[in-house]
Amino acid sequence: MLDELYQELILDHYKNPRCLGCLDCPGACVMMNNPLCGDKVRLSIKVHDSKLSDIAFEGQGCSISQASASMMSELCKGKSVSEVRGLREKFKSMMQGKLSASACPELGDVGCLEGVSKIQARVRCAMLAWEALERCLDVSEQSIPHQVASAR
Ligand code: ZN
Repeated sequence: MLDELYQELILDHYKNPRCLGCLDCPGACVMMNNPLCGDKVRLSIKVHDSKLSDIAFEGQGCSISQASASMMSELCKGKSVSEVRGLREKFKSMMQGKLSASACPELGDVGCLEGVSKIQARVRCAMLAWEALERCLDVSEQSIPHQVASAR
């Protein structure tokens, strides 16, 4: 029953992605690929007063990669950069099987990806957007506007 609910949430985010698009004049924009699955996520963010004031993504690939990007964007928008980095660490631990979703309710919808941690080949799909976010935060903290970083 719970698994069904989780699958529905993943499909909902996949079919109706939140924060879809590309920001005008982003503080940072990063494109990440997962060649193992063919997933792509292009993430753009704005940071204002140490807060992630805006975030948007575009991408293609499997439902897990795109739903993860959508859930992450919705969750992190408006939060402080340090909060976002903390959430990223928790998500990483969850994907490594070290942390259960029930132990971190602050992950919200993102927690429904917990089951992915048991499928090693799909962990990279779920992590892709979060890796893009971390790179974006690194770029924006260097305070270089409009820098486009590309990886892999
Ligand atoms: Zn994938």
